[in-house]
Amino acid sequence: MISINVDFPAPFLAIIATFCPSVTEKLIPSKRASSPQYFERFSTCRYVIINYKNYSGKINTKIYKRDLNFNPRLKREHMEIKERFAKVIEWFKVNMPVAETELHFNSPYELMVATILSAQCTDKRVNQITPELLKRFPTPEKLAEAEPAEVFDYIRSCSYPNNKAKHLVGMARKLMADYNGKMPDELDELIKLPGVGRKTASVIASVVFNKPAMAVDTHVFRVAARIGLSINSKTPHETERQLMANIPAAMIPIAHHWLILHGRYVCVARKPKCEICGLQPLCTYYNNVCK
Ligand code: SF4
Repeated sequence: MISINVDFPAPFLAIIATFCPSVTEKLIPSKRASSPQYFERFSTCRYVIINYKNYSGKINTKIYKRDLNFNPRLKREHMEIKERFAKVIEWFKVNMPVAETELHFNSPYELMVATILSAQCTDKRVNQITPELLKRFPTPEKLAEAEPAEVFDYIRSCSYPNNKAKHLVGMARKLMADYNGKMPDELDELIKLPGVGRKTASVIASVVFNKPAMAVDTHVFRVAARIGLSINSKTPHETERQLMANIPAAMIPIAHHWLILHGRYVCVARKPKCEICGLQPLCTYYNNVCK
């Protein structure tokens, strides 16, 4: 997305933005316009957001769609993204041939319990909690019969235990009532379960049922943006859309773990360990910021 603030009349901007997207970039009056990172970051955007003053001085906002095919430079850079995806996938295939969830589980039900608990909590902590919890509630049937207060006692050491206890019991009750205790394998059905958002549903769909679902957590969101696999994404949903559009369906379940594990151990949030990272030559962040 590009946001520019200029005083040109709206019809003039509309014409420029619609027919000459590359020219609108040159009209950006801020300092950012001269930054190479700025152009790298925004050059393949499909939309332009323009804030402009109309004749009466009121600020208006318009969104224009850009046609990548219209501009040869944008088209070329779009191709570069495809190439980057191909090279990153190849690198992970060679360097991380096995990538799996670090949560311990033996059944779809157990993974669902562990994944609900893992929100805002470390996998290590969840793996400490689940053995006792699942010993007491080994099936959705047993968990459905429990009261949240009892479940709370088992999960009090993880984050948000109150809410998670309610979600776990709610999930088990709905699973028993609507799915005969069997975990559904479709994303649309999974997100109907209490406490199951799009991310949790994607984890179950991809890990248990090997479906092409990309769960975008904080690691995936950050790593995809740094490497340059997602461009100017502001939401996990947008990152998911861009990753799904560029990664072959069969590779999506493992790609999800590649990005999580890379984010957890190498491309960490505060200070990425670029000096030991093999993705340096392909990484937008490294080449624009660290070099
Ligand atoms: S080079 Fe640095 S920023 Fe890029 S993926 Fe590796 S650790 Fe992350």
